[in-house]
Amino acid sequence: MIIVMRKDADPTQVKRLQQDMEALGLQVHISQGENNMLMGLVGDTSAVDAGKIATLDIVNDVKCIQEPYRKVSRKIHPENTVVDVNGIKIGAGEFTVIAGPCSVENEAQICEVAQSVKDSGADLLRGGAFKPRTSPYAFQGLEGEGIRLLCEAKKKTGLPIITEIMSSEDIDLFSDVDVIQIGARNMQNFPLLKKVGRLQKPILLKRGLANTIEEWLMSAEYILAEGNPNVILCERGIRTFETKMRNTLDLSAIPMVKKLTHLPVMVDPSHATGIPWMVEPMALAAIAAGADGLMVEVHNDPSKALCDGAQSLRPEEFADMMKKIKKTAAFFKTL
Ligand code: PEP
Ligand code: MN
Repeated sequence: MIIVMRKDADPTQVKRLQQDMEALGLQVHISQGENNMLMGLVGDTSAVDAGKIATLDIVNDVKCIQEPYRKVSRKIHPENTVVDVNGIKIGAGEFTVIAGPCSVENEAQICEVAQSVKDSGADLLRGGAFKPRTSPYAFQGLEGEGIRLLCEAKKKTGLPIITEIMSSEDIDLFSDVDVIQIGARNMQNFPLLKKVGRLQKPILLKRGLANTIEEWLMSAEYILAEGNPNVILCERGIRTFETKMRNTLDLSAIPMVKKLTHLPVMVDPSHATGIPWMVEPMALAAIAAGADGLMVEVHNDPSKALCDGAQSLRPEEFADMMKKIKKTAAFFKTL
């Protein structure tokens, strides 16, 4: 970080600022330029409040050279993080596919979808038990019973399960869940991020509806800062001016996030587009962009689904797409 001070800055105030910075464990280098006096800060500047420093009358500007996140940064941790979910290694080079319905509706539905996606080659089963719905009158999920049914489906198929948490009050219900999902609407629920950061369980952190990459990575930093390194990022489309699709899938975020962080990154083309026939082309494009995996909604009878039927693939469509995904992922590995 560089603090650009006035050329004629009061030496007593400069000295006080220097002492404050040294008290934070930083090395301070001061140099007199032609038009400014510069104070360079070397070390971990994450505790420095740049905004507050900028209000001092000796300061003209504060320039942050280092990103505000450290633990998720590839500069600090160059090697890829591999998140191990019951032996499935996410981020290790194999393409991982999570599939299942938007919501768990009943035992027959979740077990039928689980078996079909497993037969098609999915690695994990998804299903919402606590649903973040725009309308309070819409189906809110089966909650604890939904998690119990997911566990039944896991028992029958062997597929590890992932489901979304909405409140830290429910955390005890997630003890048998293999991956906890933090949904787009909760990406900046900081108390919830801290709570899941105190677990060692893998966390899939979706990008918020209108959040920048930096905000997304800062949310991941919350989880790592509490001691949980097992974070998977998931791009699920962002709000733009475009209304033809449910959201705009920001595929350019994939190479950017892979460059900035060591965490695995997945893509959810179902929520990103909201249109079933767009899921496959976007899934294949996600492979080309360097994603580590996909999350796809699949329902045995989309017309009767209690949530997101309009974007869900039928099991046979998913089976067909999986053949192309396997070929495409294998091709990109050869490049
Ligand atoms: C979901 O995965 O069911 C979901 C609600 O996704 P998002 O948080 O991305 O909207
Ligand atoms: Mn959904």
